[in-house]
Amino acid sequence: MKRVLIILFILIIAVTFFFIFYKKDLSYEDKMKNLGYSSSEVSLILDNVSSQNYDLVLELGYDKSLINILNSNDYKENNFENYIKYYMKNKKANIGDIISIVNSNYDLMNYPASGLLANLVKEKYYINANVARYLDYGNSHDVNSKKIISIVNSKADLEFYSESYDSNLNDNNLILVNKFYHLKEDYVPNDLVTLSGQYNKGANNKMRKDAALAFMEMVDAAKLDNIILYNMSAYRDYNYQVNLYNKYIQRDGKEAADKYSARPGYSEHQSGLCSDLNNISDSFDGTDEAIWLKNNAYKYGFILRFPKDKEDITGYKYEPWHYRYVGKDAAKIIYDDDITLEEYYAYYIENTSN
Ligand SMILES: [Zn+2]
Repeated sequence: MKRVLIILFILIIAVTFFFIFYKKDLSYEDKMKNLGYSSSEVSLILDNVSSQNYDLVLELGYDKSLINILNSNDYKENNFENYIKYYMKNKKANIGDIISIVNSNYDLMNYPASGLLANLVKEKYYINANVARYLDYGNSHDVNSKKIISIVNSKADLEFYSESYDSNLNDNNLILVNKFYHLKEDYVPNDLVTLSGQYNKGANNKMRKDAALAFMEMVDAAKLDNIILYNMSAYRDYNYQVNLYNKYIQRDGKEAADKYSARPGYSEHQSGLCSDLNNISDSFDGTDEAIWLKNNAYKYGFILRFPKDKEDITGYKYEPWHYRYVGKDAAKIIYDDDITLEEYYAYYIENTSN
């Protein structure tokens, strides 16, 4: 008898709990219907929104955009609260854009939703720390999101030489030397070796050891394709660049000289990681040797450092003869993705936010 009473007691408790929760669900369902959602829309909401966010749905009221959000292929239940909050601040924005921006998992909800921002976050080389500059640049230039990211990541949205950083020597083969990063006056690589024989025809014939070995490997491989390559100018010290740059300024003026010559400390040649090959002249472009290099150098760890259509990113005119050693892994990425060392460096070396 006592046992029956206990079971009965438990049953009563269970039924009571069941009714409390069942009733609560029912009431949400009714409230949503009262707002104007159809039965199928209410089912969609109950199936795709976690119960803790039902109040948010009620707060929003009847809004067809909610249904559009839930029907999107990119909808993620965990992001529901952020979709709604972001949508409430950006009611005129495209729902697909809202979803892309929130899904990017970055704290972007302080920025107005826009097609530009949605396109930017989908780009491979998007860096969250640069988003304000992307938007500034994109809103003032008629270029696509990929180009915006290339320009800003390489700092080319700033005036060249307007900021100055020491090149990080710990980056080894990936040391960046350009119009923002420079080597100190007294920097001399400690592992320079000499290129000689068939590998060299120039007076500046030294390279860092790994680069030199890769260079010789590349020259040997080219020879098997009947392409004869050789170094004309590799490592050059700081003072050499002082004389060269001053000579160019006297000849063409500072503004013109800056387009093709580096200021002292800002020349990649001081890194010992690059070579000017064969013919340091525009006429080298289109030759069998130049074409071979463009298509094959990356296999040996070298990249075309100043490509033709990237003058606005590198700050240098196209130099078909200038190849930079970065190692095979980086060279392959730079070649495959058609990016510059600036862009590679910003994303893979400097960036810590992604
Ligand atoms: Zn060069």
